[in-house]
Amino acid sequence: MSEQQSGIAGLRQDLDEVDSGIVRLIAQRSEIISAIAQVKEQGPGAIQDPAREQAVLDGVAAMAADLGVSASLVRRIFRELIGDSVAQQARRLNGDATGHRVRVAFQGVAHAFSDAAAQKYLAGRGLDGDLTGYPTFRDAADALLAGQAELAVLPIENTTAGSINEVYALLREHDLFIVGEETWKVDHCLAAVADVPLSAVTQVLSHPQGHEQCAQFLRSMPQAALAPYFDTAGAMRAVAERRDPAAAAIGSPEAAAANRLVILRRNISDTEDNFTRFVVLARDAAPVDVRIPCKTSLILVTRHEEGALLRCLEVLSGSGHSMTKLESRPRPGRPWEYMFFVDFEGNVANPGTAAALDELRSAALYVKVLGSYPAKALREPARSGGLPAAPQDESPAEMLEAVAAAPAAPAGRSRHYKLVDRAARQADTVIRVGDVLIGGDGFAVMAGPCSVESEEQINATAKFVRDHGAHVLRGGVFKPRTSPYSFQGLGWQGLDLLVAAGRQSDMPVVTEVMAVDQVQRMAKAADILQVGTRNMQNFDLLRELGKVDRPVLLKRGLSSTIEEWLAAAEYVVAQGNQQVILCERGIRTYESATRNTLDLSAVAVVRERSHLPIIVDPSHGTGSRAYVAPMAWAARAAGAHGILVEVHPEPEHALSDSEQSLSPPEFAALMRHLAGIPASPARG
Ligand code: PEP
Ligand code: MN
Repeated sequence: MSEQQSGIAGLRQDLDEVDSGIVRLIAQRSEIISAIAQVKEQGPGAIQDPAREQAVLDGVAAMAADLGVSASLVRRIFRELIGDSVAQQARRLNGDATGHRVRVAFQGVAHAFSDAAAQKYLAGRGLDGDLTGYPTFRDAADALLAGQAELAVLPIENTTAGSINEVYALLREHDLFIVGEETWKVDHCLAAVADVPLSAVTQVLSHPQGHEQCAQFLRSMPQAALAPYFDTAGAMRAVAERRDPAAAAIGSPEAAAANRLVILRRNISDTEDNFTRFVVLARDAAPVDVRIPCKTSLILVTRHEEGALLRCLEVLSGSGHSMTKLESRPRPGRPWEYMFFVDFEGNVANPGTAAALDELRSAALYVKVLGSYPAKALREPARSGGLPAAPQDESPAEMLEAVAAAPAAPAGRSRHYKLVDRAARQADTVIRVGDVLIGGDGFAVMAGPCSVESEEQINATAKFVRDHGAHVLRGGVFKPRTSPYSFQGLGWQGLDLLVAAGRQSDMPVVTEVMAVDQVQRMAKAADILQVGTRNMQNFDLLRELGKVDRPVLLKRGLSSTIEEWLAAAEYVVAQGNQQVILCERGIRTYESATRNTLDLSAVAVVRERSHLPIIVDPSHGTGSRAYVAPMAWAARAAGAHGILVEVHPEPEHALSDSEQSLSPPEFAALMRHLAGIPASPARG
């Protein structure tokens, strides 16, 4: 053995020891969870405590950052661990029999997505299963009804293609109950028997859902005919059996590998976050302990009266039940009449929920409760742009209190806008981006380089700013530069790098859109679309942005009044998109000590005149690194809902805005002190 080999062998031995230590600690953690479950069993409280979970996640992420390891990696690992703890406690409370073998029916063949989802569901409950695939959804349901299976796992909706009508039809027609749900991230690929160019493929086999979820990708292969197949994994098998290199299939990479196919393209779904939600069906309803967070699903037909749907919804909201899904479908055999599929958070075992359902039955024409079951597919709780706890003592709260009490400005100030006017809406508009809330009481920190320059640069910046408390990753890819000879940005390729870095570090991304024809494409990938100062009055661009369902970060024009700025926001809002975040970034004045004059008074004025959130960009506002942090702190004290700050791993080498970009330690210092600045209590 060479010296190098023996060195590696020794290090691997060390690694093995650490790994076994990790497993031992997980076992130890699991024992403690079990003891906690035992205590909770005696009490009436819910088993899930979102505040405690958040505190655990924040605690371990902070510790990771201190130790110099990725906080987002540690967060991901602990989310899994916490999820498992909740499942473990739920199993105990519900007295689930572990070790029992269950017969499960699914649609498709081995390696189909339904197969994978069914396995995941069983694993989460500590059960072993004998899984059988059936050609159609109906066949799988029939197997359950005939007693050949105890459970059937069927897909009910997909986040790209929507509800699966056939499965809803089965639920409507048969006495079947939902006893559980599972989610699966669908990761489609295109595979064939040989590594052929896409242009040589003349036929694409898949389940119609597979075709639908990859519609955009398939448009790039107009020569290929779509051949519907009963199942994605079956389509893979058929392609393997045919041995025709001109035939390809869409399905999971696992199914491609199981059939020894060559993957021609990976990740071909229209949206990267393509999830399918599966329901677990049984012949009988399964009561669930009231301490387990549950969802209830039902089918509803409303009375033929004015306001009938509203009355039904009021029954749910009036009794404190939050609705997670409402979908209308045609009522079979009754042209132009509709029924509704409703999911809400609640459990029929709870007397309050049972009473609400009784009330609903009398308000509606028909109600079929499909079951109450432990919830899996819930939106992640939002982070309201939190900062570490601030010291309270030196707070000038009384002074700021006086600001809050300032008299409202006279009404009818401007005829240029009405929807963004505070008069149209008293409450602050709060915009959700990923799990971050912008507006209201939150303070969102958006940070990153002026321009995306390379994969290493954006990844390193993303990781650093995330670990130091940033909520959103910024990065320009189309750059509005004063000189046509300056670096113009990496364009679409840069956008891919930015989005990938955001995903890796668990942050939504914001980037500037410069032209009308970029809007639709950019809206598919970026979470927030920025309008630069030079484009504030590009009315065509604003109108186009009003048509997409993406928040718009509207920078103030460098020589615009606040009234002109709000009128520009009105252009977006008037088209239907209410998600506008205003950003003060400095204006042109005779002062030349700073690049622009940061108008912090705009924060107070905008908060009074509009309900839209307003953030501050102290980087472009001052143009000098040294002034960025003080202006960021001042922005928070003035009542801004967040900041947008430029950070670069090596500011002196930045390809744009080098002078104003913060180095990582400077950003860390900014964040440390920011937490000590009390947020302005001024509201409106
Ligand atoms: C930017 O944010 O990088 C930018 C170009 O900003 P502004 O439009 O405010 O100059
Ligand atoms: Mn810049």
